[in-house]
Amino acid sequence: MRYSKLFIPTMREIPSGINAISHILMLKAGYVRQLAAGLFIFLPLGWRVLNKINTILKEEMEKIGAQEISMPILHPAEIWQQTGRWYTIKEEMFRLKDRTGRDMCLGMTHEEIMAWIASKEIKSYRQLPQVWYQIQTKLRDEARPRGGVLRTREFIMKDSYSFDIDWEGLDKNYKLHAEAYHRIFTRCGLKYFQVESDPGIMGDMESHEFMAPTPAGEDDIVLCDHCGYAANIEIARSQLPTLSPLNMEYKEAHTPQKKSVKEVAEFLGLDERYFIKTLLVISEKNGPVLVMLRGDQELNEKKLARVIGEFSFATPEQALEILGVELGFVGPVGHKIKKIADFSIEKGIAYVSGANKKDYHLKGIIPGEHFDAQWTDIRKVKDKDKCPKCGSSLRIEKAIEVGNIFKLGTKYTEPLNAYFLDKDGKEKPIIMGSYGIGPARVAAAAIEQNHDNDGIIWPKSIAPFDIEIIPLNMADDKTVSIAEELYEKVTEIYNSFADRHMEVLIDDRDERPGVKFKDADLIGIPIQVIIGEKALKENKVEIKKRRTKETKKVPVNKAVVEIV
Ligand code: ATP
Ligand code: MG
Ligand code: MG
Ligand code: MG
Repeated sequence: MRYSKLFIPTMREIPSGINAISHILMLKAGYVRQLAAGLFIFLPLGWRVLNKINTILKEEMEKIGAQEISMPILHPAEIWQQTGRWYTIKEEMFRLKDRTGRDMCLGMTHEEIMAWIASKEIKSYRQLPQVWYQIQTKLRDEARPRGGVLRTREFIMKDSYSFDIDWEGLDKNYKLHAEAYHRIFTRCGLKYFQVESDPGIMGDMESHEFMAPTPAGEDDIVLCDHCGYAANIEIARSQLPTLSPLNMEYKEAHTPQKKSVKEVAEFLGLDERYFIKTLLVISEKNGPVLVMLRGDQELNEKKLARVIGEFSFATPEQALEILGVELGFVGPVGHKIKKIADFSIEKGIAYVSGANKKDYHLKGIIPGEHFDAQWTDIRKVKDKDKCPKCGSSLRIEKAIEVGNIFKLGTKYTEPLNAYFLDKDGKEKPIIMGSYGIGPARVAAAAIEQNHDNDGIIWPKSIAPFDIEIIPLNMADDKTVSIAEELYEKVTEIYNSFADRHMEVLIDDRDERPGVKFKDADLIGIPIQVIIGEKALKENKVEIKKRRTKETKKVPVNKAVVEIV
């Protein structure tokens, strides 16, 4: 490819307020442009990088037997209503109506649609397992689009979904995906850690995140350099107190008997549908508060305070009396509160109780059973905290979530009626898993981890080109003819081997050497072949590695071999 023909609009002045290095460099080097908040245009160089990543994704997906399909981005609301996510997801979902007034939404993810097609087409155990994937657009009205393509409102996701007859099958597909993800991120040249995601509060299913450490990340991960322990901060917090007895305090605790949503509704003489989520929150500050949430009311940490104000129907004393709760029993509240609410609905428990005191919350609660609850330190992990595995020092790093894998079980297949007939003729719900990677995030994370003051340093596997040939003086015939010859030879020779494809860029612009050097370092092609008159006098060209900036002179006739 010829630089003179390629659209690479480099940018000198970066608008203020842009902080992430990947964002700055992608703009500067002409990889992307921003259309509006969270909406990005991928220019030729940027799109080449994404396609490189997508190719790796496809290869690794095909290796584990996943089949590529493509699903619509526009979805009818009913399917999302069936699983309840139409109501539980709030502003993040783009909603619209078609010309007939029918509710529609833009796909944030495709569990619903995947389970829907499975429900229509999979009838027998003989058709299972299946693994389907797509590399396709998702839309999420993110509250805070940031970091250039790190968090956008429209983005591409590689999402795959597994369908199995049983949990063993899911375990197998989950493991295959985890292994594929390791290969993918390694091939993309990322430093990353696989960490357990959200603590499995109350029997929640297994999920793992793949985290690329970089200061631009929004998540915290806890790492042990000695034994390789890596954990999401919440998990680490739940594990560390066992090593710091000072942070612990046990309480004998006793949960009340279970009450269904219906029972509580009847008791209070109010319509059942208003009682989908009911919580008893005992906080140090506010005391116990009965919180009744409408089904469409999202429950999260930030909203909790406001929600308590709006929806408390009883004084703390009344709340305790109504529910027959003994003070002193507790459950986790805070960042996992929505999960607890969901869990309580699933288990038919009308309420969940929780307790917070400054810097602590209580863990290990099983509603409706006796238990020993444990106050857990939720303060930041301190330097003095030791690795739960090996006792060495820990450190905390910022990281970007580049991938996430989930065991879903029957969460989507049951509500969407995706049942199959097993060997024994019994109807069973399909056991499902889902697995996502954001290629643009992978690209941005790669830049965050691989750059210097002069620009991007692409890992070879995802660089827009493998080699950039830089003839320094376009007015010098010898320079130009050697450059052109090299350009043709490298392209031709490597492209004649199916497995050694080589993409070459030649900077054939009539520009000063300084400009060419600067642009080459900025756009970050891993290998530069510099052709200058001085070296040519010795019949040599210079090969420069972008990462180390090491250069070596090689004879012109050996250049092709040396370039690899
Ligand atoms: P986050 O916690 O950063 O909001 P998420 O947990 O919502 O991400 P998932 O639903 O797990 O994301 O989606 C799978 C993958 O898709 C993520 O691991 C990430 O690589 C990518 N992704 C998610 N949201 C975005 C976004 N807004 N912009 C770009 N990529 C995204
Ligand atoms: Mg998100
Ligand atoms: Mg996440
Ligand atoms: Mg995620």
